[in-house]
Amino acid sequence: MTDSLFTQIYKGQIPGKIIYEDEHCFAINDINPQAPVHILIIPKKEVAKVSDASFEEIPLLGHLIYISKKLADLNKLSNNYRLVINNGAEAGQSVFHIHVHLLGGRSFNWPPG
Ligand code: 5GP
Repeated sequence: MTDSLFTQIYKGQIPGKIIYEDEHCFAINDINPQAPVHILIIPKKEVAKVSDASFEEIPLLGHLIYISKKLADLNKLSNNYRLVINNGAEAGQSVFHIHVHLLGGRSFNWPPG
């Protein structure tokens, strides 16, 4: 199977700066930011989407949320930010490797559209 776009960025095959990394995940700035802070938190393990995740991936999914919180703190988002996971093309997913969008630095509307 070919590597996802995000794995190719992680491996340095496509340009992109890794702004955070640990044993389980890494983070990059979104190339097309929708807010002053727009970070993607991505598991090193390639799972296409949340609806494909299995029971054994529960800790990994929790880890992604926890690291999103840490990155929000590091970026001084003062406890106001939005975490988004698009699941499936009709929900807006364009890269099929699970990722959490951390958006902050501005106000957000609801519903998201
Ligand atoms: P999705 O639409 O799958 O929820 O989010 C994919 C995100 O990846 C989009 O926000 C898009 O701007 C971002 N993206 C697509 N290609 C690249 C790239 O080459 N580099 C970076 N840093 N982000 C990308």
